Amino acid sequence: MSMQRHTRKMPHSLPEGRAPLRRPGAGLPYLDAVSATDSMEHENQRLSAYEHQVKHAFDRIIPCVRKLAAIQYEEDFVPLASERIIDELDLTPPTDVLQKAWTRQLDVKQLVSHLTLATYYRFVSGVQHVNPLAHPQCADFVSFLADCGYHRMDITPCADGRLAHVIRYVLRLPAEVVRRKAYAGAAFAVDDNVAKWAEVELKRQQSAPGTNTKYLKVVAYHFSSIDGEREGCAAHGSDDRKAAEFGRDALLGFKNAVAQGFSRPDAVEGLLIGIDTATDSIVLHTPDLEGSIDIDSSLQSTDCVGMSSDKIRAYVGSYASHSSEGMQRLVSQLIENNLAQLAYVKTNHDGCYPDVGHAERFIGIGVGFDEIQLRNLMYFGYLTTIEEGAPDVDVGLKIFKGLNQSRGLSTPIVIRFDYYGSVAGARERAVARAGRVADALKSRYPDHFAAGDIHYLQLSRDLDTRAAPEFLGSNLPSLTEDNLS
Ligand SMILES: [Zn+2]
Repeated sequence: MSMQRHTRKMPHSLPEGRAPLRRPGAGLPYLDAVSATDSMEHENQRLSAYEHQVKHAFDRIIPCVRKLAAIQYEEDFVPLASERIIDELDLTPPTDVLQKAWTRQLDVKQLVSHLTLATYYRFVSGVQHVNPLAHPQCADFVSFLADCGYHRMDITPCADGRLAHVIRYVLRLPAEVVRRKAYAGAAFAVDDNVAKWAEVELKRQQSAPGTNTKYLKVVAYHFSSIDGEREGCAAHGSDDRKAAEFGRDALLGFKNAVAQGFSRPDAVEGLLIGIDTATDSIVLHTPDLEGSIDIDSSLQSTDCVGMSSDKIRAYVGSYASHSSEGMQRLVSQLIENNLAQLAYVKTNHDGCYPDVGHAERFIGIGVGFDEIQLRNLMYFGYLTTIEEGAPDVDVGLKIFKGLNQSRGLSTPIVIRFDYYGSVAGARERAVARAGRVADALKSRYPDHFAAGDIHYLQLSRDLDTRAAPEFLGSNLPSLTEDNLS
């Protein structure tokens, strides 16, 4: 498969009578010769512009509020502040908060949370219309995956925000078809995954009976080549080996659960990937033909910088000869894809991120958030109840204690449950879940709520439409449906 193909309009270069080199419906009139470098640069510019635009929207909030705090006792503060919020942040001003400033002092905590959550809402509503991270070769990837022997790819990264871009940026895969479920320490729920496997398997038996492809489960743990003793995985105490072992064991647990529960020992294959959150380089621990993974043996994308596709294949062939042919093809492609991300980090950050540590802007919990494919924007905990997701939320709040509470700000949390409107009763169940999670947050963290250290926004979205998420509630009185629209 060619994941990177140079496209350019050159009508005169086509010999007469020759059909354009394109798939039907690809939408581009002509494809020129393959030029991976030009295509990669174009893609990198597109991804960079998007990352900058989204993060900048959040990063303008604090400087704007600082300026407002400085003029809060001016006579015309409310109209002046409102104008600035509209001009600088493109948001509807929370007039109630501004009006109280002259008697009670501007509530900076509330204002920053309000503007952060409102910025998130505007971002997520916009994404539904333009799909800015759409992958150009979704269908190609699905058939490539099938050629490698897999009908589904499912990734569990750590909930750490520095891995939120693993699919679309680090591995350059289509988020449209690769499932992501993040958990603190990549400790995914085996039962939940078995249920997903069974659902996928049932559909596959109906649509493509007799095919013998596998379900590919990937766990992405992480470490940091800079300040690794502090900036590794918080859920594993920055112990890289422990993080890798945990991922390996979780993969084995999932494979065994399907083998024992459904008498299908070969239905699942696991792949363990380690990500250096300082540089986005990857190490891959591939399984042998029995599915065993040796964490002391790995392939490293940094070994392949400057290599052609053929040389990468040869490198993988010599260091992962214990793996199936299909797995070797897949990881060769993942390494090639990751080289594009290494070029991205080199161009934009001189090879190493300035924010080596945590810099998430908010926490997201629930089911959804597919639009968040950006690094260090959101700490994500996939959960349906607080009880099952408690470790994830605990780790998230610990991170935000350092990020926000240490400077007098609250932790903004988006509680979101997406659903398919075509399924009877799905909206009601999603709404009820969002309500239960908000209530459970209040009971689990009463001190945070008493001190005003958690501000949440509850949303749900119908995945059958492109409509903006539905506003369900917030513990910020200023955050209303009217203020968000
Ligand atoms: Zn982690």
